[in-house]
Amino acid sequence: MTKVVLTGATRVRRQNGRLPYFPRRHLMLVTGVTIVVLLLIGLVPSTDVEANKTRIPLKIDGLKPGPLKHKSLSEESPGKELLEITQPAQPMLVETLRTDSEATRRAREEAERKTRELATLGRWQSLVVESGDNLSSLFAKQGLGARVVYDISKTPNYGRLLADIRPGQTLNFRINSKNELTQFRYVRDRLNHLLFQKTDNGYIAEKIVFEPQVRTAYVEGKINDSLFLASQKAGLTDRLTMELAGIFGWDIDFALDIREGDRFNVVYEERFLLKDGKDDEKLGNGNILAATFVNKGKSYTAIRYTDSKGRSSYYTPDGKSMRKAFLRTPVEFTRISSRFNPNRLHPIFKTKRPHRGVDYAAPAGTPIKAAGDGRIQFSGWQNGFGNVVFIEHPNNIVTVYAHQSRLNKRFKKGSRVNQGDIIGYVGSTGWATGPHLHYEFRVNGEHRNPVTVKFPDAKPVPKAEMARFKQHKVGILAQLEQHQKAYQGTMLASQ
Ligand SMILES: [Zn+2]
Repeated sequence: MTKVVLTGATRVRRQNGRLPYFPRRHLMLVTGVTIVVLLLIGLVPSTDVEANKTRIPLKIDGLKPGPLKHKSLSEESPGKELLEITQPAQPMLVETLRTDSEATRRAREEAERKTRELATLGRWQSLVVESGDNLSSLFAKQGLGARVVYDISKTPNYGRLLADIRPGQTLNFRINSKNELTQFRYVRDRLNHLLFQKTDNGYIAEKIVFEPQVRTAYVEGKINDSLFLASQKAGLTDRLTMELAGIFGWDIDFALDIREGDRFNVVYEERFLLKDGKDDEKLGNGNILAATFVNKGKSYTAIRYTDSKGRSSYYTPDGKSMRKAFLRTPVEFTRISSRFNPNRLHPIFKTKRPHRGVDYAAPAGTPIKAAGDGRIQFSGWQNGFGNVVFIEHPNNIVTVYAHQSRLNKRFKKGSRVNQGDIIGYVGSTGWATGPHLHYEFRVNGEHRNPVTVKFPDAKPVPKAEMARFKQHKVGILAQLEQHQKAYQGTMLASQ
C-alpha cells in the first residue's frame, strides 16, 4: 500500500532480494579479479586457478538479507512507532508528575495516552522463525488460533507475503488483554518490514522501507608485499580490494607489475541504518567512488561516474574509460593448448594448416564470456567449429568462440551482448581433441593474435555528459584530497 520512507538520504537500492551493488557483469569481473588477488598472495599456482576458485570467501558486506539475530524490540529498528514501544507507560510516574507546569502536563497526557494504548493494543512480543516453523505453529505459540492466521493471510496486498517467512526472520506480535492480535510486524530484513493493523474488518498492512544513509569513508595503503596484505592492513574488505584490483586491472597486472612502495588511496561508500539518537548500525560498504593507484612510480586515478541514465562506470579524470573494449581472455582457462600460429601442423589432419586463433583448455562446461560489447552475428553449428558464436563489434572487429558444449539460448542472431555476458560453455564439439575454447579475433576480416593484439579503450564519457562529469569529478577529487590530508594529519599526530 504505502511506502514509508524514514530517512531520505538515498534511493532504495534493494529490490527483489538480489544483491543490488553487484550487477551480474560486476560479479564476473570480481570473480576474475579473485584469481588475480589469489595469484598476488601466492595462494594458487596459475595452472590450478579454476579448482581453487570456489574456496575464496567472496564477502559482500551487509548486502545479503542474512538471518537476523534475536534482538529485543528496542534494538530492532528505528522509527517513531517503535520508540513508543520501547518506552512503555509507567502509571506510577503519572502520579508523581502532577504539577502545574505546561511541560509536565503534556508529559502526563502522553503517559496516559500510552497507558490507554497499552490497554487496547497490548504489549509487543517478538519471535524468531526457526526451521520447521510455519505461520500456524508460530501463531499457536502466541496463543492465536487458525482464524487469526486466516484473517491476516487474507490482508489485501501483503497478506500473501506471509507465506515467505524464512528461518532467522523476526515476527512481532501485539496482543491485547482480550487475546486479540492488534498489530503484527513481519521483519523481512533489516531494511524491509511489513506492519499489519487490525481493523473492524480484517487487517490492513503497509510496507515500511528503511533507507540506509550513505557516508564516504577513506583508506590508503602502501604495499610492502602484496596488495591483499596492504589493503587488509589498511582496513579494506576483501570485496573492496577485489573491486580496486578490478578497476585498475586493465592497466596494471596485479600478478606481475606490483612493486614494493606502490600506493593506493580509496574513497568509498559506507551504508548505515540510522537509529533514533542511538548508535547507527553499519549495514555494509557500497561502491568505490574514487581511487588512485601508484604503480612503479606511475599514478592512475579512477572516478566512478553514474550517467544521467543511471549507468555507472569508472573513468580517468579526463573522461576516458578505465576499461578496454575487450577482455584479454574470454574464459578462465587452465592453459593455452594451442597458440596463434600461421604455420601449424593440424593435430587431426596432420597437414600444414594455420591456427588462426588461440585454444584455451578449460574443463567442459566452463562459462565463455563475450569479450566485448556487440551483436550476435551467428550462433549455431558449423562444420569444424561445432557449436560456435560469432560476435560483431564496432570498428569491424569480429570475435569467434568455437567448440562449445552448449550455447546460451538467450543470445540469438542479432541479439545485443555486453562485455562479460555468458554466451555459452566450453566443450569439444566439431573438430576438437579435448574440451577447449577456440577463440579468434578478426579485424577487417583479418585474423590477429588475440593474446597480443592492442585493444581499443571502452567508450569514454559521452560528449553530452561531459559537463556533468566534470562537475562530479571536481567534487570527488577534492574529497579524495581532503581525506588524504586529514589522514596524513592524524598519522603525523600519532607518531
Ligand atoms: Zn583452435
